Amino acid sequence: MIAPLVSVNGNYFLELFHGPTLAFKDMALSILPHLLKTAAKKNGIDKKIVILTATSGDTGKAALEGFSNVEGTEIIVFFPENGVSAVQKAQMVTSEGDNTHVIGVNGNFDDTQTQVKAIFSDTALADDLYQKGFILSSANSINIGRLVPQIVYYFYAYTQMVRMGAISAGSELNFTVPTGNFGNILAGFYAKTMGLPIGKLICASNENKVLYDFFKTGLYDKNREFILTTSPSMDILISSNLERLLYHVSNSSTKDLMARLSQQGDFIFNTDEILKTFSGEFASEQEGAHSIKEMFKNGYTMDTHTAVAYAAYKKYAQTTGDTRKNVIVSTASPFKFTESVCSSIGSSLAGQDPFKLLEVLSRMSSLPIPKQLVDINLKERRHKIVCNQDQMKQQVLDALA
Ligand SMILES: *Cc1c(COP(=O)(O)O)cnc(C)c1O
Repeated sequence: MIAPLVSVNGNYFLELFHGPTLAFKDMALSILPHLLKTAAKKNGIDKKIVILTATSGDTGKAALEGFSNVEGTEIIVFFPENGVSAVQKAQMVTSEGDNTHVIGVNGNFDDTQTQVKAIFSDTALADDLYQKGFILSSANSINIGRLVPQIVYYFYAYTQMVRMGAISAGSELNFTVPTGNFGNILAGFYAKTMGLPIGKLICASNENKVLYDFFKTGLYDKNREFILTTSPSMDILISSNLERLLYHVSNSSTKDLMARLSQQGDFIFNTDEILKTFSGEFASEQEGAHSIKEMFKNGYTMDTHTAVAYAAYKKYAQTTGDTRKNVIVSTASPFKFTESVCSSIGSSLAGQDPFKLLEVLSRMSSLPIPKQLVDINLKERRHKIVCNQDQMKQQVLDALA
């Protein structure tokens, strides 16, 4: 099954992590290369397409998997050297394919993403690359081709809920989405706009709760400490796709807001319209870990990102009294985050080698180790470069030389 909807103790989990890289990003990134090739053909583009991507851990591998050896493309992935899990890193640096380039960056995800955006807006570089036969494109969710495929599973989840008898057709259903760059949850907003009876979209943050604070106060303020959490794919302070939502609800240009964000690091926006559909919640590291343990006792093993959503949903339900049914969007396999999951469920072996922990987790959860991760630590580490932020542009040129 591609996206099973699992019911555990009155909770519903939409599992989006059964693709090639075990994260929900596969849902869109396994289709994106085909969309891109078709678009390039239709537009008569004869240049090589260079996919340039910053990753907080999961996008990178999903994009590498999608674009590996795709004719007419090169793919360059930058990841924060110390900001991803051991399994995520191993997945990326062992990537095969003649057109793949994976580079660690000394910095956090925001630094990495900001540099990649700067490279995209460097027109002199774009001209130079064009002369050499390349054009740049993105596999990040700033590419609309990432968002469109994600709309589908909101409809699918809804129909599954009806089929299971959990809701009746036409009644409202809530979704709780573990959020970083706001791409997944924005697809839910598009689904609602298209007519799907969605009640609330609950935006779950980890301790980097810039979105939670924004929904509460109308002040978006990235001037704060960047916290490395056990849900690294949500460690984001500049949430790229929020701009799209601001544009949709205000129907006016977001240029000034975004200029203010890049210069001062903050902006103020009236959130009344947004709050009709969205609600912000967050979970601390402790609350996330506690949730993993609680659900584990109920026979269900969650990853750290899904756990943030679960904990945030519990807080939402308690504070609002909203009794509408809710689907928790489950974004990664627990096997991608063995260290954190094992320590949450109280394994005495939690401090061990993260790859050994694959077996430990498999035994404790009675789940098989996903075949993509079997022997991953024995695979050749083909990609070894680590660079500073100011060297990223040069790395792009070197990769294409
Ligand atoms: C990317 C990712 C998220 C955050 O999704 P956004 O679309 O960036 O909000 C959450 N969980 C996991 C496991 C992810 O890989």
